[in-house]
Amino acid sequence: MNALVWADAATPEEGGAQATNLFRETFNYEPRGVWSAPGRVNIIGEHVDYNGGPCVPIALPHRAYVALSPRQDRTIRLISPQTREAIDVLDLDALGPKGGPGEVANHWTAYLAGVPWALERAGYGPLPGFDAALWSCVPLGGGLSSSAALECATAVALDEVCSLGLAGSIEAPNDEGRRVLVDAARVAENQIAGANTGGLDQTASMRCREGHALALDCSDMSTRQVPFDLGAVGLELLVIDTRAKHSLADGQYGARRADCEESARILGVDQLVEVADLAQAVAALNDERLAARTRHVVSEIARTRAFIDLLVEGPLEGTRLKVAGALMDDSHESLRDDYEVSCPELDVAVAAARSAGAHGARMTGGGFGGSAIALVDADATPDVALAVARAYAERGWETPHFIRALPSAPAGYLG
Ligand code: ADP
Ligand code: MG
Repeated sequence: MNALVWADAATPEEGGAQATNLFRETFNYEPRGVWSAPGRVNIIGEHVDYNGGPCVPIALPHRAYVALSPRQDRTIRLISPQTREAIDVLDLDALGPKGGPGEVANHWTAYLAGVPWALERAGYGPLPGFDAALWSCVPLGGGLSSSAALECATAVALDEVCSLGLAGSIEAPNDEGRRVLVDAARVAENQIAGANTGGLDQTASMRCREGHALALDCSDMSTRQVPFDLGAVGLELLVIDTRAKHSLADGQYGARRADCEESARILGVDQLVEVADLAQAVAALNDERLAARTRHVVSEIARTRAFIDLLVEGPLEGTRLKVAGALMDDSHESLRDDYEVSCPELDVAVAAARSAGAHGARMTGGGFGGSAIALVDADATPDVALAVARAYAERGWETPHFIRALPSAPAGYLG
């Protein structure tokens, strides 16, 4: 079997230099600065955001770096090494929602150009055009929010060069202002890129803190920082990017949302977070599929609340670690059996990680591919990764990529 593939994060110095060099080579002048924003991984609380439930993301050390300078006109020029060689040129006055006359043809540029468009519609304009070079080490399409990282890096860059005063610094973030930037980033993704997502990814990228997990209540997007210093207790979070993407992902996401809405309607509640008595709800639904979907949502909300309580109580050691691991395991089983959003690649990764000694493991993100996570003793991480890679090799599957995820800093200026 080939060696393990670690998708390590670039250091801020490396990332900043890559973006700056690309900017310089492309536009022949110095950028005003480099801003960056992280990808995220959700520890627990899956498929409950659109049901008003809680989730617990952390910011990854993997970041998108945007070197940027404002222009005198309304032109936007963009370059990224990962997608194509040519400069993309857009007009801030001409671009508009996907499907309309101003649709942005090249998909990736929509995530950046959509941000000033959304900020202007939120009353923060008129904004200047800009030149920007993007360089990112957030794995693309692995369910780790590479798209939100692009939007949020652009948002904090524009906040600073246009003196909007919304972001504050990484050390002293302006949480209220960041909520405005989160909304602009989400609107950019929904309308200009045409991807129907809630605000979880952007909230994590903007509002997480180093060494902490973000307890995010999706009913009102209120947050609470909970200590999650894994290193202090000899733990690591291993992220397994399965590299699998099943084509049914988008349609199935819509179908699950529709199931939840239908269940809520039958039960006479606005959102499933309001269901107080699961047994009663299951009886009232009188439909196996809807009952299973509701069982996942209601039980996942309870697990997530219990997980947050554990982190608030103290470091993940002893019984707390055991319980936290079990909650992660149960979350996976619920997503696999009741919500039916797992796939063989995720199930095999989770099973192999557990048998190699992980304290808990689960799929994370939307499912049907993407990534799984395992909570492991730091010194056992290589063994757990090897066990997963072996299980993939035995099945003739593409080699998974591994990430060590420590809770990292939110979007901001890194110099
Ligand atoms: P995820 O956010 O889970 O990684 P998405 O499908 O939401 O997956 O976003 C992936 C898209 O984001 C890519 O298809 C591409 O358009 C854009 N993207 C992400 N990273 C980069 C990058 N480094 N360069 C260019 N485009 C990128
Ligand atoms: Mg995304």
